[in-house]
Amino acid sequence: MPLPSWLETDVSLKALNTFGLPAVARRLVRIRADADVRRLLDAKEVGLAPKLVLGGGSNLVLTRDVDGVVVKVEVSGLRLVQERPDAWIVEAGAGMTWHDVVESTIANGWPGLENLALIPGTVGAAPVQNIGAYGVELAERFESLDGVDLVTGRGVTLTRAMCAFGYRDSVFKHVLAGKTVITRVRLRLPRPWTPVLGYLELERKVAETGITAPSARQVFEWVCAIRRAKLPDPSTLGNAGSFFKNPIVTQDQCRDIIGRDPHVVHYPMPDGSFKLAAGWMIEACGWKGKTIGGAGVYEKQALVLVNRGDAIGAEVVTLARAIQESVYGRFGIRLEPEPVVV
Ligand SMILES: Cc1cc2nc3c(=O)[nH]c(=O)nc-3n(C[C@H](O)[C@H](O)[C@H](O)COP(=O)(O)OP(=O)(O)OC[C@H]3O[C@@H](n4cnc5c(N)ncnc54)[C@H](O)[C@@H]3O)c2cc1C
Repeated sequence: MPLPSWLETDVSLKALNTFGLPAVARRLVRIRADADVRRLLDAKEVGLAPKLVLGGGSNLVLTRDVDGVVVKVEVSGLRLVQERPDAWIVEAGAGMTWHDVVESTIANGWPGLENLALIPGTVGAAPVQNIGAYGVELAERFESLDGVDLVTGRGVTLTRAMCAFGYRDSVFKHVLAGKTVITRVRLRLPRPWTPVLGYLELERKVAETGITAPSARQVFEWVCAIRRAKLPDPSTLGNAGSFFKNPIVTQDQCRDIIGRDPHVVHYPMPDGSFKLAAGWMIEACGWKGKTIGGAGVYEKQALVLVNRGDAIGAEVVTLARAIQESVYGRFGIRLEPEPVVV
């Protein structure tokens, strides 16, 4: 049976993941509306199940070819759906570039996403990972989302409570992993807008510039400048951002780790737990600048693993495991990777 014209075959994914890792999708379908998902599920001639939902490929480590259908989400559209006294509710297509949405909402007078500027990837992946940066997490700006169930083809709407957001975590990494294509996300941008400036690097900007009441645009520009100075640009050096989550530990565990090294960087959390700086621990174990094959640890920030040229996914995974082992050996902490390994 001939394959439908909307199904692409043997597509290289190298340019579709920010690590620049080589892999091929046996089949790839681009989703621009919910109906495209149903068409895929109904098309028996495709003969392969959806295997990987792909956004901007900025949180992935591809270790092999994908022997199934890659569902590339390209749903577009941005609109104000509700203007309430307490919030603007803005809906964005899951295939939109996250940073473009941040910039457009500010330009349209709907501020609130500025601390999340310049995070690579798409709107649809933002709830999966509950993206966060500079003192704000998506969960705090989230209203609800629409998606399509990849088994039944039914449309679903999930509220914030249903998404079970946690630190870089959500229901889409657990019971719904690989089961739903997110097609639209509604963002709740609180009114009146107040800047979130509690993060150390933003406090520094306030002190340096003397601007104590910055506009959303100003915060956006500060965040972009801070990020550009410390994170590698994936278009010139392949990477997936922070490779490990910052571990959250109890007070007793934190005391134990400080006993191993009194300099360990740790931050008290509101619930009494402590967040440890994974990058600091990796650097303390001597990994900064080291390489395994084509995979390396970024010289400016040990939390970021990079593609030095021709890295393959297996080398990234081997490097990550070696780092995990040495951090465990020295601090008794098992680092958890942030990106999804495929
Ligand atoms: C330089 C750099 C800096 C970064 N900084 C940050 C940061 O500050 N904070 C942060 O939180 N993250 C950061 N990241 C990680 C990454 O940008 C985010 O996780 C982003 O949300 C991933 O989006 P994506 O579209 O590229 O997702 P992909 O990598 O394509 O996919 C990631 C996961 O989400 C799933 N997925 C993607 N789209 C959908 C969809 N529509 N429906 C259902 N599932 C979907 C995929 O199946 C996969 O499991 C950074 C990455 C880089 C390269």
